Amino acid sequence: MPNGEPLQIPRRQILSDHVYAQLKSLIMNGQVPPGERLNIEDLSRRLDVSPTPVREALARLESEELTIKLPLRGYTTTALLDREQILDLYDLRFLLEVPSAKRAATRVSAADADALRAELATVQNAPHADGYETYRVFIDHDARFHRLVLDLAGNEMVTQAFLRTHCHLHLYRLAYDGTSGSDAVEEHAVLVDALVSGDPEAAEESMRNHLALARDRVLAGLDARPAP
Ligand SMILES: [Zn+2]
Repeated sequence: MPNGEPLQIPRRQILSDHVYAQLKSLIMNGQVPPGERLNIEDLSRRLDVSPTPVREALARLESEELTIKLPLRGYTTTALLDREQILDLYDLRFLLEVPSAKRAATRVSAADADALRAELATVQNAPHADGYETYRVFIDHDARFHRLVLDLAGNEMVTQAFLRTHCHLHLYRLAYDGTSGSDAVEEHAVLVDALVSGDPEAAEESMRNHLALARDRVLAGLDARPAP
């Protein structure tokens, strides 16, 4: 490509991304409930687009486990995580992330320390719970932050195992409130201090503490839900 020529994103790609983002918001906000059948024709009418971008969006959402395609039935939204799955998911996160935080603390360069501080600075205050469009800023930060710690630890297999859970999406699909968001931001700051000061024990402890508190916040949110 000649120098200075703006990069053109094909219109079709923009439309496809837009439909994907719209459908994802509908699912994350519960406007399309869990276990709901997703009819491609209906959705394309509702979103005023052709069936192609809807089909593409549903396939992308399937890779994030927000939708599932069943033989002869088409797509439905997946169920929410239940209590046992939440506990299992956090057990896995403890196994992957606690030793990684410890290891990362022994490997943090000056540039890594800047990257950690910069990531923290993307959320000065956690957003309020005004729907997925608002609080996704926080979800995106949380996902990037945990990924960054795993990257610093340097075990690609561990990072991939973490990414495959899509845990941030599934945990925040259950609930989000601004208070738990700001608690998490404070816990991230404690972890950054431990990592930047190169203290493996403190980093291990802050990650363990953060995950335990985050798990308890999710479970408390589950208990506060009205019975179906
Ligand atoms: Zn976190």
